[in-house]
Amino acid sequence: EDLGSDVRIDAEIDEDAEDGLLGGLQIESTAEIQVPDRLVDQVIGQEHARDVVMKAAKQRRHVMMIGSPGTGKSMLAKAMSELLPKEELQDVLVYHNPDDGNEPKVRTVPSGKGDQIVEAHKEEARKRNQMRSFLMWIIIAIVLGYSLIIAGNILLGILAAGIIYLAFRYGSRGSDAMIPNLIVNNAEQQTAPFEDATGAHAGALLGDVRHDPFQSGGMETPSHDRVEPGAIHKANKGVLFIDEINTLDVRSQQHLMTAIQEGEFGITGQSERSSGAMVQTEPVPCDFVMIAAGNLDAMENMHPALRSRIKGYGYEVYMDDTIEDTPDMRRKYARFIAQEVEKDGRLPHFTANAIEEVILEARRRAGRKGHLTLELRNLGGLVRVAGDIARADDADSTTRDHVLQAKGRSRSIEQQLADDFIQRRKDYELQVSDGYVTGRVNGLAVMGEDSGIVLPVMAEVTPSQGPGEVIATGQLKEMAQEAVSNVSAIIKKFSDEDITQKDIHIQFVQAGEGGVDGDSASITVATAVISALEGVGVDQSLAMTGSLSVRGDVLPVGGVTHKIEAAAKTGCDRVIIPEANLQDVMIEDEYEEMIEIIPVSHISEVLDVALEGEPEKDSLVDRLKTITGSALDKQSVN
Ligand code: ADP
Repeated sequence: EDLGSDVRIDAEIDEDAEDGLLGGLQIESTAEIQVPDRLVDQVIGQEHARDVVMKAAKQRRHVMMIGSPGTGKSMLAKAMSELLPKEELQDVLVYHNPDDGNEPKVRTVPSGKGDQIVEAHKEEARKRNQMRSFLMWIIIAIVLGYSLIIAGNILLGILAAGIIYLAFRYGSRGSDAMIPNLIVNNAEQQTAPFEDATGAHAGALLGDVRHDPFQSGGMETPSHDRVEPGAIHKANKGVLFIDEINTLDVRSQQHLMTAIQEGEFGITGQSERSSGAMVQTEPVPCDFVMIAAGNLDAMENMHPALRSRIKGYGYEVYMDDTIEDTPDMRRKYARFIAQEVEKDGRLPHFTANAIEEVILEARRRAGRKGHLTLELRNLGGLVRVAGDIARADDADSTTRDHVLQAKGRSRSIEQQLADDFIQRRKDYELQVSDGYVTGRVNGLAVMGEDSGIVLPVMAEVTPSQGPGEVIATGQLKEMAQEAVSNVSAIIKKFSDEDITQKDIHIQFVQAGEGGVDGDSASITVATAVISALEGVGVDQSLAMTGSLSVRGDVLPVGGVTHKIEAAAKTGCDRVIIPEANLQDVMIEDEYEEMIEIIPVSHISEVLDVALEGEPEKDSLVDRLKTITGSALDKQSVN
């Protein structure tokens, strides 16, 4: 059965079951799914990048790929090398230059020929050496015979024989110098070369000439023999892949540009004080297609000329982080698991239930309603951990239970840190999760990319000597000031207190190892400040996240799923999130029972839920609500 875009299985698709997690695939396990041969057909999603790579392979254009790690950039680069013609491959030989030992000659031959040439030279040298040693022994015999029989002096004879022996050995070094150095050998290549030069130092990228500690006296290695190719030379007629292109030093980027322009680049010693630096070969071919990759920052920090080079002679593509969750796509995710199982070679195949659990996880990790994550390196990690657990169990196949166990184990460093963090705070009772406290609000932050923490914010208001100031502790000062100035319009609107006459102290309790995003803490800061100003307690069994507009609208933030789970783990009963984020909530079943999610769209609703007591609160909330009324028009100038 052909499932359209390259998903093939032996089984049928049940049209009626298309809505299911397997997209209607009628299979028992991933063993029934056939993995496509070509790497380019194994790529899931990234339709645009795939098209570009196929087109660029035909036209031999460079490609710039921008996107998150583990979304298939190097996979696509490798796939491209499979698409390039293999017929054009070449071997490169470096020869001794009798006219100038420091400028070795470079010759290019069709692939496979290089080995033969080196062999022929070696054979010749062997014959010559044989001839020479034959000659040598004859002369030695004559000299020995002469000194013994005619001169009658054996010592003189041995001395003379020794000198002759050394002279021959020394002389024979010259003939080794005639053997060329095969620096690029494509004899065994099945496809065009793929060279990953990510993080390569100058020598590994551009080639190098080794230092020779014995630079004279007959012990030296001839310079052509010390020449080593760089990734740019090994990638000749193939693909040169460089991830994190911006981390390449400027000098290397400049040389890379020259290499791209000229299609050839001579090799010289890279360390200045080494004898290799005196050597400079003739140009060595480096006619590669470059795939440069990185995240968005990479583009900004990249050498502008190099970038415009790629832009002018190639394509730029953005990698997708997620893809729409359709039956066809879910079937492809099942195939993805089959691919990862096949690639690893030792993992037991996944049962249908296990596949479903992985697809559920792909949904969850997307963090976006109706989508699946394309950060497939990480998802592949989950597949491997689950398979390893199954193997440790001596199981015939990887089951849903193994996947569930793996989810517990394959937590990122950040998740492990966050759990540790929550535990430590519980130990020290820093976490308050009941009662009412004035000026203290349980905020929520994301740590790393995939874990949340509860981050309490404390506010205190004191009369000011001069003009009011926002005083914050720690590195969060700037963030706190920004958050307060953003919400000050709202605070002014309804508070009787004039905050311009007050100092507002804000403390993020144990913010620790980063991850605090000012924007998503703005309803937290606003609530804490309002509570402190008015002296009204805040419910401590409640946590919240949300951004705030100057009108008091609660705007969406990132990472809600992880934040909600953190709140639940910490023991909060309720959590406030922006209404617009409701569709992003994909919490695990176990948390659903533990916590009530309250979607809000205005700060008045936040205060309604968070603040203690009836009369004060009501008047506060009423006042706040008026902001959205006529006050709103006046505000909209901002
Ligand atoms: P990147 O270069 O973007 O960091 P890689 O291409 O190295 O990511 O991806 C690592 C691995 O994750 C791949 O070898 C493959 O197993 C899996 N993978 C990543 N993206 C995809 C994709 N789009 N389709 C299929 N597998 C993928």
